[in-house]
Amino acid sequence: MIKIDHLSKKFNDNVVLDDISLDIKKGDVVGIIGPSGTGKSTLLRCVNRLETPERGTVTIGDKTIDLSEKKPKDLLYLRQNTGMVFQRFNLFEKKTALENVMEGLIVVKKMSKAQAREIAIEQLKLVGMAPWANHYPKHLSGGQQQRVALARALAMKPQILLLDEPTSALDPELVGEVLDVIRKVAAQGYTMLLVSHEMNFIRHVSNRVIFLDKGHVVEDGTPKEVFDHPTNLRTQEFFRKMN
Ligand code: ADP
Ligand code: MG
Repeated sequence: MIKIDHLSKKFNDNVVLDDISLDIKKGDVVGIIGPSGTGKSTLLRCVNRLETPERGTVTIGDKTIDLSEKKPKDLLYLRQNTGMVFQRFNLFEKKTALENVMEGLIVVKKMSKAQAREIAIEQLKLVGMAPWANHYPKHLSGGQQQRVALARALAMKPQILLLDEPTSALDPELVGEVLDVIRKVAAQGYTMLLVSHEMNFIRHVSNRVIFLDKGHVVEDGTPKEVFDHPTNLRTQEFFRKMN
């Protein structure tokens, strides 16, 4: 239901993604791991066209989009059908938690304020942030801000959720609350691409794990296969260094 085909991206001479193709089933939670600088963020950013690759398409639902072209219509489709959560929460500082979640519904989905508010409150409840609806980001902890960012992404009812190291900017004691919310969202059947350094979390929340190295998928299997029986030397070395 989500298909990435022949995705290639380089920055100058630095080939970051080298002809990557992936088929992702509806409801799959795909954990993406690999050394730093290996193209994990770039992969997510190309899928929703925050970066423009030289080549590649993404198919979401029954629509295939050429990511190397800059068609405003395609961009709108991607904004409507993908949700992204970043390492740094990227909330609008001048908007309350509620207004942050409402924004995309009003601007991208063209909903009325009343309708947007209703959905936003529902999503804030899901992430346990309804009591903070009228707070500004600067008055929220990092974990709370990230939960609002998740609510904002979910409110759009994206066909795919892209999470780029959603806990790595958090103080250790705040990681758990965000992981709990992601686990809950995953259990609702959302399709997700999840980049994280939290290997234990990836192992338990994903049903598929991909190891990316030097622009290639070098490992692709169930968490058990990839973590317990990696076939690639680079992957084995990566895990050895982590322990
Ligand atoms: P990861 O998320 O796996 O750590 P990234 O996707 O952020 O890796 O980066 C992959 C490579 O692309 C790195 O070598 C990085 O320096 C390079 N890169 C990423 N973004 C840019 C950019 N905007 N301009 C130039 N090089 C970039
Ligand atoms: Mg990254």
